[in-house]
Amino acid sequence: MQKVCLNCGIRKDLKNFPHDARYRSGTSSHCRKCRGSFASHWKKANPERTKKINDSYYKRRRSLLERIQSLEKYLGMAWDDDSQLHQKINEQNKQEK
Ligand SMILES: [Zn+2]
Repeated sequence: MQKVCLNCGIRKDLKNFPHDARYRSGTSSHCRKCRGSFASHWKKANPERTKKINDSYYKRRRSLLERIQSLEKYLGMAWDDDSQLHQKINEQNKQEK
């Protein structure tokens, strides 16, 4: 299956279009190449907002990591004991609700 990119107008194979649930077709209207350049243009045009987005991302990630590490300590478990750790996190999330 092929699709025409709305930005560059080139007909490309569907695999060149990133998955995007916001679109009815399930794929973005812009090809990967155009999407990539949009993102870098946007970042250049919006340095402040990019910084804010990155900051909040890292903050969230850090707090999640800290939470996992404290859980790990609490449980006496190794980092890579994934399934059990996730189970414990799920249990804790349920309790918080
Ligand atoms: Zn394109």
